[in-house]
Amino acid sequence: MDESKIDAFLKRKGEKVIVSACLLGENCRYDGKSKEVPEIRKLAKYYSLLPICPEVLGGLRTPRDPSEIVEGKVLSQRGKDVSENYRNGAYWASALARIQKVHLAILKDRSPSCGSTLIHDGSFTGKVIPGKGITAKRLEKEGVLVLNEEEGKRLLSLLEEGR
Ligand code: SF4
Repeated sequence: MDESKIDAFLKRKGEKVIVSACLLGENCRYDGKSKEVPEIRKLAKYYSLLPICPEVLGGLRTPRDPSEIVEGKVLSQRGKDVSENYRNGAYWASALARIQKVHLAILKDRSPSCGSTLIHDGSFTGKVIPGKGITAKRLEKEGVLVLNEEEGKRLLSLLEEGR
């Protein structure tokens, strides 16, 4: 957990934050479900949350085949190269960040788009390795601070303590 990034979020209270839409309850995951984290939703008390799903922005349908990063490409479980969809999703996420002057994001870890500390290892066996998804990497390269959902929960607890 990167406390310095969490501190930076505390200093930017009130700003816009891009958030993985699935963390806010949107059924946009590959399996047609969400991955709602109530603590992330509660951050709306302190920030202006902008939900996005980079995979949907990149033109993929829900539900869709799961995909993982394999040797620099994004491949679906059936072997289809969906790298361009992922790059397009990252492009639109970064365009939104620029237009809306967003410096902060909270993204779902372990995703080939949104992962900021962990991603699946490309074997489709559920194993994770340190790494970044395509959108998280692009946003960070453009200066956006990215937290994962666990860091987002820690941020909420600090805010609720009055930090
Ligand atoms: Fe959630 Fe990101 Fe995957 Fe969309 S691309 S379902 S927002 S983790």
